[in-house]
Amino acid sequence: MAWLKKNTSDKPAKSPSVPQTLKAALNSLDRDSLILDKNSNAVFKTSNVDKLNILRDGKINSEELSALVRVVRRTGVKQEGSFELPRGPIGEGKRELQVSVSMLSDAGLVLIVIDDEGEKQRIDAVRRDFITNISHELKTPITALSLNSDALLEIKSEPDQVVKFANKIKQQAGRLNDLVQEIINLSKLQDADPMAMATEVQILDVVNEAIDQCETNAESRKIMIDLEKADAAKVLGNRDQLVMALHNLIENGINYSAENTHVTVLVEVTDQIVEVTVKDQGIGIAQSDIDRIFERFYRVDPARSRATGGTGLGLSIVKHVAGNHGGEIKVWSVPGIGSTFSLRLPIINTAKKESK
Ligand code: ADP
Repeated sequence: MAWLKKNTSDKPAKSPSVPQTLKAALNSLDRDSLILDKNSNAVFKTSNVDKLNILRDGKINSEELSALVRVVRRTGVKQEGSFELPRGPIGEGKRELQVSVSMLSDAGLVLIVIDDEGEKQRIDAVRRDFITNISHELKTPITALSLNSDALLEIKSEPDQVVKFANKIKQQAGRLNDLVQEIINLSKLQDADPMAMATEVQILDVVNEAIDQCETNAESRKIMIDLEKADAAKVLGNRDQLVMALHNLIENGINYSAENTHVTVLVEVTDQIVEVTVKDQGIGIAQSDIDRIFERFYRVDPARSRATGGTGLGLSIVKHVAGNHGGEIKVWSVPGIGSTFSLRLPIINTAKKESK
C-alpha cells in the first residue's frame, strides 16, 4: 500500500500512523476491529473494542489471539480463528469471538476484525433449550386454569361456588402473568449482550433503587432492610439488569425469612471488585440444594416458592446478569440461620483507559 512505506534507513522505525480514511472505513463497518503496530500495541480500535475485554494496557489480552497474530507476522498469510474470552477478571461469564487477522503493511501493522458469529450461535442454542424448558413450566398453570373454568361452568347456578372458582382462576392467571414476565426478563438477558450497549453505572444508585422496589413487600412481611455499608463504585453495564438482579436477591431475602428479622445489604470495594452482599436471617438452604438453586425453575420447596409469588427463575436471572457483566454470584447458607448472597462485579478502572 502506497501510504505505508517500508523503513529503508538505519533509524529505528516509528510506528506508522493509521490513515483517517482507513479509520473511517473500519468505523463504518458493523464489526469491531483493531490495528496493532509492529510491537503489538493497539494503535486503532473501534468504539466497542474496550467492552470486549480483549485489550489490557493497550496490548492483546488473549494468548490464543496473540499466537494468531504471531503466525500472521511470520507467514504474512491471513488467519481466521475463534476463541473464548472471559467477560471480566472474575466469574465464569465467557464470550466467543471469531476473528480474522491479516497484515496491513510491511511496516508491521496488523488488522484484526472481530465477528460475534459465535455469540449468535450460542444464543440460538440457549434459546432452543429455554423453549423446551418453559413449555413444561407453562403447562401446569394453564391446565389448572382450564380445569377450574370447566368447574365454573358446571356450578354456575351456585353463587358461593362461582366466587370460589373465580378467585382460583384469578390467582392462577396472576401466577401465569408473573411467570411470563420472568420468562421475558430471562430471555432478554440471554439474547442481548449488555456490554454492547454498556454505560457507566453508579452501583449505589442501583442498590437504592432495588431496596425501594422491595420496601412494600418488606413492610407487609415485617422485615427491616438495612443498608449497612455503602462504598461508592462505578461499573460498566446495564443499569436495569443490575437493578433486576439485586431486586431478586433482596426479594428472596424477604420471602424466605420469618417476620421481625433483618435483611442487610452491604456494598464494599476491594481490589477493583465491588461486592454487593445481601444477608438474611431466614430459613437457609441445605448444602445439597446450594449447587442447584441457580438452575432455571429449580426451587427447594415449590409450594413455599409459589406462595410468595416465586417462579424459580429469580436466581438464574441473577447468575446471567453477573456473568454478562464479567462478575460472579456467591452464596453461603446455613439452614435455620440464614443466607448470604454476594454479587461481585469488576469496577471501572479509570486509571487504565486505553489510548486510541
Ligand atoms: P423463586 O422464584 O422460587 O424464589 P429463585 O430462582 O429466586 O426462585 O430461587 C430458587 C430457590 O432457591 C427458591 O425457590 C428457594 O428455595 C431458594 N432460595 C433462594 N433465595 C433464598 C434465600 N434467601 N433463603 C432461602 N432460600 C432461598
